[in-house]
Amino acid sequence: MARRRKKNNQKLLATIVLVLVGLVGTGYLWLSGLFGITDTTVYDETMPGVIFLDVGQADSILIKSPTGEHMLIDAGKNDTAEQLVQMLRDYKVDDLDYLILTHPHEDHVGGADTVLEHFEVKNVISPDIGADSKTWRDVVDAIEAEGCMDITASVGATYTLFEGCKFEILGPVDADTDLNNASVVVRLDYFETSFLFTGDAEEEAEKAILDRVGREKLDVDVLKVGHHGSSTSSCAEFLSAVTPSYSVISCGKDNSYGHPHSETVTALQKIGSQIYRTDQEGTVILQSNGEQLYRISSDPSTPLEKILNSIFG
Ligand SMILES: [Zn+2]
Repeated sequence: MARRRKKNNQKLLATIVLVLVGLVGTGYLWLSGLFGITDTTVYDETMPGVIFLDVGQADSILIKSPTGEHMLIDAGKNDTAEQLVQMLRDYKVDDLDYLILTHPHEDHVGGADTVLEHFEVKNVISPDIGADSKTWRDVVDAIEAEGCMDITASVGATYTLFEGCKFEILGPVDADTDLNNASVVVRLDYFETSFLFTGDAEEEAEKAILDRVGREKLDVDVLKVGHHGSSTSSCAEFLSAVTPSYSVISCGKDNSYGHPHSETVTALQKIGSQIYRTDQEGTVILQSNGEQLYRISSDPSTPLEKILNSIFG
Protein backbone atom coordinates (compact mmCIF):
# COMPACT_ATOMS: atom_id res chain seq x y z
CA MET A 1 0.00 0.00 0.00
CA ALA A 2 2.74 2.41 1.03
CA ARG A 3 4.72 1.60 -2.08
CA ARG A 4 1.69 2.30 -4.33
CA ARG A 5 1.13 5.68 -2.66
CA LYS A 6 4.78 6.56 -3.27
CA LYS A 7 4.42 5.62 -6.95
CA ASN A 8 1.28 7.74 -7.26
CA ASN A 9 3.08 10.66 -5.65
CA GLN A 10 5.93 10.31 -8.12
CA LYS A 11 3.45 10.27 -11.01
CA LEU A 12 1.73 13.37 -9.66
CA LEU A 13 5.05 15.14 -9.24
CA ALA A 14 6.12 14.24 -12.77
CA THR A 15 2.79 15.53 -14.13
CA ILE A 16 3.12 18.79 -12.20
CA VAL A 17 6.70 19.27 -13.48
CA LEU A 18 5.61 18.57 -17.06
CA VAL A 19 2.68 21.00 -16.82
CA LEU A 20 4.95 23.67 -15.31
CA VAL A 21 7.60 23.16 -18.00
CA GLY A 22 4.87 23.39 -20.66
CA LEU A 23 3.44 26.57 -19.13
CA VAL A 24 6.88 28.20 -18.83
CA GLY A 25 7.74 27.21 -22.41
CA THR A 26 4.44 28.48 -23.82
CA GLY A 27 4.75 31.66 -21.77
CA TYR A 28 8.27 32.25 -23.09
CA LEU A 29 7.24 31.76 -26.70
CA TRP A 30 4.19 34.00 -26.20
CA LEU A 31 6.26 36.72 -24.57
CA SER A 32 9.07 36.54 -27.13
CA GLY A 33 6.47 36.72 -29.91
CA LEU A 34 4.85 39.70 -28.24
CA PHE A 35 8.14 41.57 -27.92
CA GLY A 36 9.25 40.83 -31.44
CA ILE A 37 12.22 38.49 -31.50
CA THR A 38 12.64 34.81 -30.79
CA ASP A 39 16.01 33.27 -30.10
CA THR A 40 16.50 30.01 -31.87
CA THR A 41 19.48 27.86 -32.77
CA VAL A 42 18.78 26.45 -36.19
CA TYR A 43 18.80 28.51 -39.41
CA ASP A 44 15.46 27.97 -41.13
CA GLU A 45 16.03 27.64 -44.88
CA THR A 46 12.35 28.40 -45.56
CA MET A 47 12.70 31.98 -44.26
CA PRO A 48 14.79 34.88 -45.59
CA GLY A 49 17.91 35.71 -43.58
CA VAL A 50 19.77 38.95 -42.94
CA ILE A 51 23.28 37.93 -41.96
CA PHE A 52 25.71 40.47 -40.54
CA LEU A 53 28.94 38.64 -41.35
CA ASP A 54 31.82 38.88 -38.90
CA VAL A 55 34.47 40.55 -41.05
CA GLY A 56 36.25 42.34 -38.22
CA GLN A 57 36.41 46.15 -38.26
CA ALA A 58 34.40 46.35 -41.48
CA ASP A 59 30.93 45.75 -42.98
CA SER A 60 29.48 42.92 -45.01
CA ILE A 61 25.82 41.95 -44.83
CA LEU A 62 24.21 39.12 -46.74
CA ILE A 63 20.50 39.04 -47.52
CA LYS A 64 19.46 35.54 -48.49
CA SER A 65 16.06 34.43 -49.77
CA PRO A 66 14.67 30.91 -49.42
CA THR A 67 14.39 30.78 -53.21
CA GLY A 68 18.01 31.45 -54.15
CA GLU A 69 18.19 35.26 -54.50
CA HIS A 70 21.07 37.00 -52.75
CA MET A 71 22.17 40.54 -52.03
CA LEU A 72 25.44 41.59 -50.43
CA ILE A 73 25.86 45.01 -48.84
CA ASP A 74 29.60 45.74 -48.69
CA ALA A 75 32.39 43.20 -48.87
CA GLY A 76 34.71 43.77 -45.93
CA LYS A 77 38.45 44.45 -46.17
CA ASN A 78 41.15 43.30 -48.57
CA ASP A 79 42.71 40.94 -46.03
CA THR A 80 39.46 39.07 -45.30
CA ALA A 81 38.40 38.71 -48.94
CA GLU A 82 39.13 34.97 -49.20
CA GLN A 83 37.42 34.34 -45.85
CA LEU A 84 34.38 36.26 -47.09
CA VAL A 85 34.20 34.12 -50.23
CA GLN A 86 34.27 31.01 -48.03
CA MET A 87 31.57 32.44 -45.73
CA LEU A 88 29.33 33.14 -48.71
CA ARG A 89 29.90 29.59 -49.98
CA ASP A 90 29.02 28.29 -46.49
CA TYR A 91 25.71 30.13 -46.84
CA LYS A 92 25.23 28.39 -50.22
CA VAL A 93 25.59 31.60 -52.21
CA ASP A 94 26.33 30.89 -55.87
CA ASP A 95 25.53 34.25 -57.39
CA LEU A 96 24.53 37.73 -56.29
CA ASP A 97 21.53 39.55 -57.69
CA TYR A 98 22.76 42.79 -56.12
CA LEU A 99 26.06 43.91 -54.68
CA ILE A 100 25.73 47.26 -52.92
CA LEU A 101 28.99 49.09 -52.31
CA THR A 102 28.01 51.77 -49.80
CA HIS A 103 31.15 53.90 -50.33
CA PRO A 104 34.72 53.37 -51.57
CA HIS A 105 36.47 52.97 -48.19
CA GLU A 106 38.63 49.86 -47.90
CA ASP A 107 36.70 48.38 -44.95
CA HIS A 108 33.57 48.28 -47.17
CA VAL A 109 34.88 47.47 -50.65
CA GLY A 110 38.25 45.81 -49.98
CA GLY A 111 36.88 42.33 -50.69
CA ALA A 112 34.58 43.42 -53.54
CA ASP A 113 37.00 42.64 -56.39
CA THR A 114 37.51 39.11 -55.04
CA VAL A 115 33.74 38.62 -54.65
CA LEU A 116 33.23 39.81 -58.23
CA GLU A 117 35.87 37.35 -59.42
CA HIS A 118 34.34 34.35 -57.58
CA PHE A 119 30.62 34.91 -58.04
CA GLU A 120 28.35 35.95 -60.86
CA VAL A 121 27.11 39.41 -59.90
CA LYS A 122 24.17 40.81 -61.83
CA ASN A 123 23.93 44.37 -60.47
CA VAL A 124 26.27 46.64 -58.56
CA ILE A 125 24.86 49.72 -56.83
CA SER A 126 27.30 52.38 -55.61
CA PRO A 127 27.29 56.14 -54.95
CA ASP A 128 28.29 58.70 -57.54
CA ILE A 129 31.72 59.17 -56.03
CA GLY A 130 35.09 57.48 -56.53
CA ALA A 131 38.36 57.32 -54.64
CA ASP A 132 41.97 57.60 -55.65
CA SER A 133 43.09 54.33 -54.13
CA LYS A 134 44.34 51.00 -55.46
CA THR A 135 41.48 49.25 -53.66
CA TRP A 136 38.83 51.29 -55.49
CA ARG A 137 40.61 50.99 -58.87
CA ASP A 138 40.66 47.19 -58.40
CA VAL A 139 36.92 47.26 -57.70
CA VAL A 140 36.16 49.42 -60.76
CA ASP A 141 38.25 47.06 -62.93
CA ALA A 142 36.49 44.00 -61.48
CA ILE A 143 33.04 45.51 -62.15
CA GLU A 144 34.06 46.16 -65.74
CA ALA A 145 35.50 42.67 -66.16
CA GLU A 146 32.36 41.07 -64.71
CA GLY A 147 30.21 43.05 -67.11
CA CYS A 148 27.43 43.50 -64.57
CA MET A 149 24.93 46.32 -64.52
CA ASP A 150 26.65 49.27 -62.84
CA ILE A 151 23.94 51.35 -61.15
CA THR A 152 24.46 54.75 -59.51
CA ALA A 153 22.46 54.96 -56.28
CA SER A 154 19.51 57.26 -56.72
CA VAL A 155 17.23 58.26 -53.83
CA GLY A 156 13.74 56.85 -54.28
CA ALA A 157 14.78 53.99 -56.57
CA THR A 158 13.10 50.75 -55.49
CA TYR A 159 13.96 47.18 -56.36
CA THR A 160 12.32 43.81 -55.74
CA LEU A 161 14.78 41.22 -54.49
CA PHE A 162 12.28 38.37 -54.21
CA GLU A 163 8.60 37.86 -53.47
CA GLY A 164 7.58 40.13 -50.58
CA CYS A 165 11.05 41.66 -50.29
CA LYS A 166 11.80 45.06 -51.73
CA PHE A 167 14.44 47.63 -51.01
CA GLU A 168 14.63 51.37 -51.55
CA ILE A 169 17.58 53.73 -51.80
CA LEU A 170 17.24 56.52 -49.20
CA GLY A 171 20.72 58.01 -49.48
CA PRO A 172 23.02 59.58 -50.27
CA VAL A 173 20.91 62.68 -50.84
CA ASP A 174 24.08 64.37 -52.10
CA ALA A 175 27.15 62.30 -52.99
CA ASP A 176 29.27 65.43 -53.42
CA THR A 177 30.60 65.20 -49.88
CA ASP A 178 33.15 63.20 -47.89
CA LEU A 179 33.12 59.45 -48.52
CA ASN A 180 31.33 58.43 -45.31
CA ASN A 181 28.45 60.81 -45.94
CA ALA A 182 28.21 59.59 -49.54
CA SER A 183 27.24 56.13 -48.20
CA VAL A 184 24.38 54.36 -49.94
CA VAL A 185 21.59 54.02 -47.36
CA VAL A 186 19.03 51.29 -48.00
CA ARG A 187 15.69 50.40 -46.45
CA LEU A 188 14.69 46.78 -46.92
CA ASP A 189 11.17 45.47 -46.23
CA TYR A 190 10.03 41.87 -46.05
CA PHE A 191 6.26 42.08 -45.58
CA GLU A 192 5.80 43.59 -42.09
CA THR A 193 9.46 43.54 -41.04
CA SER A 194 11.97 46.22 -41.98
CA PHE A 195 15.70 46.92 -41.91
CA LEU A 196 17.85 50.01 -42.46
CA PHE A 197 21.44 49.74 -43.70
CA THR A 198 23.43 52.93 -43.34
CA GLY A 199 27.03 52.20 -44.34
CA ASP A 200 29.20 54.82 -42.64
CA ALA A 201 26.69 57.69 -43.00
CA GLU A 202 27.31 60.30 -40.30
CA GLU A 203 25.20 63.03 -38.74
CA GLU A 204 25.35 65.31 -41.83
CA ALA A 205 23.99 62.54 -44.09
CA GLU A 206 21.48 61.34 -41.46
CA LYS A 207 19.96 64.83 -41.25
CA ALA A 208 19.92 65.25 -45.04
CA ILE A 209 18.12 61.90 -45.43
CA LEU A 210 15.66 62.78 -42.66
CA ASP A 211 14.85 66.07 -44.46
CA ARG A 212 14.49 64.36 -47.81
CA VAL A 213 12.51 61.19 -47.06
CA GLY A 214 10.76 62.05 -43.76
CA ARG A 215 10.51 60.25 -40.44
CA GLU A 216 8.06 57.55 -41.47
CA LYS A 217 10.31 56.15 -44.18
CA LEU A 218 13.11 55.75 -41.65
CA ASP A 219 11.01 53.94 -39.05
CA VAL A 220 12.27 50.33 -39.07
CA ASP A 221 12.60 47.28 -36.83
CA VAL A 222 16.33 46.70 -37.28
CA LEU A 223 19.08 49.27 -37.77
CA LYS A 224 22.58 48.48 -39.02
CA VAL A 225 24.16 51.19 -36.88
CA GLY A 226 26.09 53.76 -38.92
CA HIS A 227 29.89 53.82 -39.06
CA HIS A 228 30.56 50.84 -36.75
CA GLY A 229 28.90 52.61 -33.79
CA SER A 230 30.98 55.79 -34.01
CA SER A 231 29.60 58.78 -32.08
CA THR A 232 29.79 60.81 -35.31
CA SER A 233 26.75 58.79 -36.47
CA SER A 234 23.38 57.91 -34.89
CA CYS A 235 22.44 61.49 -33.93
CA ALA A 236 19.41 61.93 -31.67
CA GLU A 237 17.07 63.24 -34.42
CA PHE A 238 17.89 60.30 -36.65
CA LEU A 239 17.43 57.68 -33.91
CA SER A 240 14.14 59.26 -32.81
CA ALA A 241 12.82 58.64 -36.33
CA VAL A 242 14.30 55.18 -36.85
CA THR A 243 13.37 53.89 -33.35
CA PRO A 244 14.85 50.45 -34.08
CA SER A 245 13.78 47.65 -31.75
CA TYR A 246 17.09 45.97 -32.64
CA SER A 247 20.43 47.47 -33.59
CA VAL A 248 23.39 45.66 -35.07
CA ILE A 249 26.90 47.08 -34.76
CA SER A 250 29.53 45.68 -37.12
CA CYS A 251 32.97 46.24 -35.63
CA GLY A 252 36.20 44.43 -34.77
CA LYS A 253 37.24 43.21 -31.35
CA ASP A 254 39.50 45.77 -29.58
CA ASN A 255 39.55 47.97 -32.68
CA SER A 256 41.81 51.03 -32.59
CA TYR A 257 38.89 53.48 -33.08
CA GLY A 258 37.20 52.46 -29.84
CA HIS A 259 34.05 51.49 -31.79
CA PRO A 260 31.35 51.33 -30.74
CA HIS A 261 31.61 54.61 -28.85
CA SER A 262 29.90 54.59 -25.48
CA GLU A 263 27.74 57.61 -26.50
CA THR A 264 26.21 55.55 -29.30
CA VAL A 265 25.59 52.52 -27.11
CA THR A 266 23.96 54.74 -24.47
CA ALA A 267 21.81 56.52 -27.08
CA LEU A 268 20.57 53.18 -28.42
CA GLN A 269 19.88 51.86 -24.93
CA LYS A 270 17.99 55.06 -24.10
CA ILE A 271 15.50 54.41 -26.90
CA GLY A 272 15.14 50.80 -25.76
CA SER A 273 16.93 49.23 -28.70
CA GLN A 274 18.46 45.81 -28.15
CA ILE A 275 22.04 45.77 -29.41
CA TYR A 276 23.85 42.92 -31.15
CA ARG A 277 27.57 43.34 -31.89
CA THR A 278 29.74 41.34 -34.26
CA ASP A 279 32.82 41.96 -32.08
CA GLN A 280 31.06 40.19 -29.19
CA GLU A 281 28.88 37.61 -30.93
CA GLY A 282 30.61 37.04 -34.25
CA THR A 283 28.24 36.83 -37.20
CA VAL A 284 24.77 38.10 -36.24
CA ILE A 285 22.01 36.16 -37.99
CA LEU A 286 18.44 37.43 -38.11
CA GLN A 287 15.55 35.82 -39.94
CA SER A 288 12.03 36.99 -40.68
CA ASN A 289 8.81 35.18 -41.51
CA GLY A 290 7.32 38.49 -42.61
CA GLU A 291 5.80 39.29 -39.23
CA GLN A 292 8.17 37.96 -36.63
CA LEU A 293 11.93 38.24 -36.28
CA TYR A 294 14.18 35.40 -35.21
CA ARG A 295 17.76 35.57 -34.04
CA ILE A 296 19.86 32.51 -34.61
CA SER A 297 22.04 32.39 -31.54
CA SER A 298 25.21 30.36 -31.52
CA ASP A 299 24.28 29.23 -28.02
CA PRO A 300 23.39 25.56 -28.55
CA SER A 301 20.83 25.43 -25.74
CA THR A 302 17.15 25.92 -26.58
CA PRO A 303 15.11 28.79 -25.06
CA LEU A 304 13.43 26.28 -22.76
CA GLU A 305 16.79 24.89 -21.64
CA LYS A 306 17.94 28.45 -20.96
CA ILE A 307 14.93 29.11 -18.73
CA LEU A 308 15.35 25.83 -16.85
CA ASN A 309 19.06 26.57 -16.43
CA SER A 310 18.33 30.04 -15.11
CA ILE A 311 15.82 28.59 -12.59
CA PHE A 312 17.66 25.45 -11.55
CA GLY A 313 21.23 26.62 -12.24
ZN1 LIG B 1 33.58 51.74 -42.31
